[in-house]
Amino acid sequence: MAAVGPPQQQVRMAHQQVWAALEVALRVPCLYIIDAIFNSYYDSSQSRFCIGLQIFLRLLGIFVSSIVLILSQRSLFKFYMYSSAFLLAATSVLVNYYASLHIDFYGAYNTSAFGIELLPRKGPSLWMALIVLQLTLGIGYITLLQIHSIYSQLIILDLLVPVIGLITELPLHIRETLVFTSSLILTLNTVLVLVVKLKWFYYSTRYVYLLVRHMYRIYGLQLLMEDTWKRIRFPDILRVFWLTRITAQATVLMYILRMANETDSFFISWDDFWDLVCNLIISGCDSTLTVLGMSAVISSIAHYLGLGILAFIGSTEEDDRRLGFVAPVLFFILALQTGLSGLRPEERLIRLSRNMCLLLTAVLHFIHGMTDPVLMSLSASHVSSFRRHFPVLFVSACLFILPVLLSYVLWHHYALNTWLFAVTAFCVELCLKVIVSLTVYTLFMIDGYYNVLWEKLDDYVYYVRSTGNIIEFIFGVVMFGNGAYTMMFESGSKIRACMMCLHAYFNIYLQAKNGWKTFMNRRTAVKKINSLPEIKGSRLQEIDDVCAICYHEFTTSARITPCNHYFHALCLRKWLYIQDTCPMCHQKVYIEDDIKDNSNVSNNNGFIAPNENPEEAIREAAAESDRELNEDDSTDCDDDVQRERNGVIQQHTGPAAEEFINDDTD
Ligand SMILES: [Zn+2]
Ligand SMILES: [Zn+2]
Repeated sequence: MAAVGPPQQQVRMAHQQVWAALEVALRVPCLYIIDAIFNSYYDSSQSRFCIGLQIFLRLLGIFVSSIVLILSQRSLFKFYMYSSAFLLAATSVLVNYYASLHIDFYGAYNTSAFGIELLPRKGPSLWMALIVLQLTLGIGYITLLQIHSIYSQLIILDLLVPVIGLITELPLHIRETLVFTSSLILTLNTVLVLVVKLKWFYYSTRYVYLLVRHMYRIYGLQLLMEDTWKRIRFPDILRVFWLTRITAQATVLMYILRMANETDSFFISWDDFWDLVCNLIISGCDSTLTVLGMSAVISSIAHYLGLGILAFIGSTEEDDRRLGFVAPVLFFILALQTGLSGLRPEERLIRLSRNMCLLLTAVLHFIHGMTDPVLMSLSASHVSSFRRHFPVLFVSACLFILPVLLSYVLWHHYALNTWLFAVTAFCVELCLKVIVSLTVYTLFMIDGYYNVLWEKLDDYVYYVRSTGNIIEFIFGVVMFGNGAYTMMFESGSKIRACMMCLHAYFNIYLQAKNGWKTFMNRRTAVKKINSLPEIKGSRLQEIDDVCAICYHEFTTSARITPCNHYFHALCLRKWLYIQDTCPMCHQKVYIEDDIKDNSNVSNNNGFIAPNENPEEAIREAAAESDRELNEDDSTDCDDDVQRERNGVIQQHTGPAAEEFINDDTD
């Protein structure tokens, strides 16, 4: 077999896309039916039987539509084929019936309700039209039901019999009989086809049922739902549903407006346009289903916005493509939380615009999350091309200006409430985050510009970042308080309570935990470094070596590992954040467990008792390190003692001293 060339591949791709589009288009009507059922109201003044029947019909409608919605592609097409075949059959029978019994052939005019002459007036042309129509319907019917034998020609003939009766001008009662017989035969045939297919229907239903049960047992409900969601392209269906619904409403409203204004021009006044848009938006979120549709549309917008920004700032991070997922989920949760679809129309518009403001700030936060790593990598890699830096800086500036503008406008127009407070807090938080990012960026740029090892840099960056994190944490707590206030005094829905729990977990607990972890990591790294002997001054010149991590010379001081390798304290510390071994020879630089184990048994090994004076211990340790430096052939045992002592010193001097030592040595 020859290899599939690119043009063929393209054709196949296009083919697949067309089928996918058709599939989506065929599923959309189900959503319309479900939406209509949910939106229709029934009067409770009727008898109990009527109400019961109505509820039953509604449930049946929803059930059938849902089933059709999740059918497989093949079954979906089959379903539509049979339905349209039955529709064609019904149309054909109706046309025959009407033509045979109700059209007055020799009447002068046959005008339709709209004043348009639909049917040809003269006898022969009417017959021709009828024959063509019946032929089309018949061919459509047999094609859709896939009847291939001689039998199919009989069906077409059957459809044409009443027309023949009409042409030959048979008496009325015979024409009636003909129409009746023809439609009876057609009905019988349809029933026959159904009965033949019943077996297939039963087996395929059973197969699908077993398949679903099997998948449910193996993968669980969540995966099953995810799979269905993707298979039927539910977001696409929702988008098409929402957009077509809005378009239809817009068309109707435009028509009404033009009727009311009695103008023929396509342009409407600005006020009317604004009213129209407001009305469309209000009706665009009047039920949970339409809110879902709106979320799907927002998802598309957010997805392309995210991609655009990523391309603009030149980032290739895969994780950052999630904006198209995060934004709609947030929108939907906000809508649920505020009970958007259940509000009165005028309140709904206000609530929606408030939700949109919150969503906008959240999206800006997300965009900041995208720009921050790019900013850091640019500043750290010392790329000095203006064209690389400008887009990121520009986006950062926008991220600073937009929240300021937004809060200014909102404060100008609204009085303070919990919503405005939340939006403002988000805006301020974003501004602070941008400032932190830009400060760190500036620090790195300065470092790159001067081209000398700046040992304090890491500390400064750490301080700036942790200040930012602490402020963020405080904002998290404040927002939690705001949410609690809203819940107690404004609206206390269950969804809001859930969201509060999530907020408490992700924005408060996890952040505090991460911050604490970073702090502890840093502390232990500093502790480990300080346990290593330091060389300064003239001894440094004697070594005449470079740091094996950064290949820079030792200007002020160097740390020496137990395996006799020299490094900058700063370089080694950064290394120790990642792993515990020497970068050169992979021996353990510092073994905490050893100290814990040995501390119980090493009294005979020169162990310093806990209550002993720490200063003395430090002096002793210094002496030890000097000795070690002088005699490079120190034994492993000495090393152990050395390490262990330093560890002990560290343990007893405590964090405050460590901080002091840290400041002193760096
Ligand atoms: Zn170094
Ligand atoms: Zn080493």
